[in-house]
Amino acid sequence: MSASLATVAYIGAIILFIMSLGGLSNPETARRGNFLGMAGMALAVLATVLGPRVTAAGIPWIVGALVVGGAIGLYAAKKVQMTQMPELVALMHSLVGLAACLVGFASYVDTSTVFPTPVEKTIHEIEIYAGILIGAVTFSGSIMAFGKLSGRIGGKPLLLPGRHWLNLVGLLVVLYFGGQFLQAGNTNAGMLPLLVMTVIALAFGVHMVAAIGGADMPVVVSMLNSYSGWAAAATGFMLSNDLLIVTGALVGSSGAILSYIMCRAMNRNFISVIAGGFGGGAPAPAGAGGAAEPQGEVTPVSAAETAELLKDSKHVIIVPGYGMAVAQAQHTVFEITKLLREKGVNVRFGIHPVAGRMPGHMNVLLAEAKVPYDIVLEMDEINEDFPQTDVTMVIGANDIVNPAAQDDPTSPIAGMPVLEVWKAKTSIVMKRSMASGYAGVDNPLFYKDNNRMLFGDAKKMLDEVLAALRA
Ligand code: NDP
Repeated sequence: MSASLATVAYIGAIILFIMSLGGLSNPETARRGNFLGMAGMALAVLATVLGPRVTAAGIPWIVGALVVGGAIGLYAAKKVQMTQMPELVALMHSLVGLAACLVGFASYVDTSTVFPTPVEKTIHEIEIYAGILIGAVTFSGSIMAFGKLSGRIGGKPLLLPGRHWLNLVGLLVVLYFGGQFLQAGNTNAGMLPLLVMTVIALAFGVHMVAAIGGADMPVVVSMLNSYSGWAAAATGFMLSNDLLIVTGALVGSSGAILSYIMCRAMNRNFISVIAGGFGGGAPAPAGAGGAAEPQGEVTPVSAAETAELLKDSKHVIIVPGYGMAVAQAQHTVFEITKLLREKGVNVRFGIHPVAGRMPGHMNVLLAEAKVPYDIVLEMDEINEDFPQTDVTMVIGANDIVNPAAQDDPTSPIAGMPVLEVWKAKTSIVMKRSMASGYAGVDNPLFYKDNNRMLFGDAKKMLDEVLAALRA
């Protein structure tokens, strides 16, 4: 393939990626968006493999790597449960970071490129230094995020004494060694500063994510998504590959926008998220606040009673959370919705932006169960309607419906906007036990007079509710 044909194919791939992102912004067009992204990626891979920079001798290596990598990807995608998706995404991000590091070291030791001027050589070395820095932070941060999302590492923030100073010193050392690296006369002399920086960047990635409390994890997930884009763009600079630069910038900026949206949803500013510590489940200091401290008894309810309450309602709002994903209850939820709507009940869904374990988690599940999009509303669109609602059904959600976020300034999640389910005439919370949610915070909703607890696996309980509704 000639260089100009490869460039045309790259431009085609870039257009497909942009259209893909456009499609992904709406559930109704998301399937098409995914398809366009896949087509763009296929075109990009073909144009690269058949392009002018790959020699015939290299093709068997690339095909071999494609077969091995593709097989691992296919196996992982087939095997992964929907609830493990966020972990898989975190692992994928770590691979982008690792690739940026490896490409960085490879292009540094590769002395075959001759630079026409010293300035160009310096620019290339800056690209390598910055690329490895971003790649290493992305790699270790994503591995840490994987550990936290999969429960292998606790959600509690690790707050080292003087941690901001530690980060600052790390940054200064990285800058100092950056200077040393650029002044190094040869590859051997430059290797030490490069390695020192890599170790510091790896440690920073671990420290940054370790310091972040459970409730801030959504922002971290989207932020690492953004970092992985910048790592890919840095790889593009090192390899002088325009497609990688543009694609990386697309991922980097869309991830940054998503982080901003997540921060807004959590009522947090980006800097304080990075600084860490929010939502760590630390107990409230004695005597402080107290308004939201769990008190009293909970009132259990049966599936049959739940069905009666639903049948007698005019307006119902369903609030799904992580537990619905665990129980895979979305199809039964839809059956119940259909039945109630046939009986003339106005059923709608309230979706919190950080419900579940990844952005858009609940929307994906509901779309999979074929719940019509027009009855699925965002938190901001539905929060005012709870006082006019007869029953809210909270299915496996906890942190996103926790009134302590509003009532208790000492709560670790104070200030996070929540779905005000307790304002309905009756709220029913479906979960297996009194355990707390991801942020590890107690939920005073369970003890409210108008709240009922339907204990059990969400799928099992909803099957019973459905049977009772049909009876
Ligand atoms: P939570 O984690 O707060 O609560 C989920 C609840 O589901 C648990 O309390 C659990 O209680 C219950 N549950 C688990 N399994 C089942 C089951 N089989 N049947 C019924 N209930 C079940 O989830 P939310 O969706 O309310 O909130 C999301 C949390 O995750 C927030 O803290 C958010 O910050 C965080 N997060 C979100 C990310 C995102 O991008 N959306 C990413 C990372 C973290 P029990 O064990 O008693 O059943």
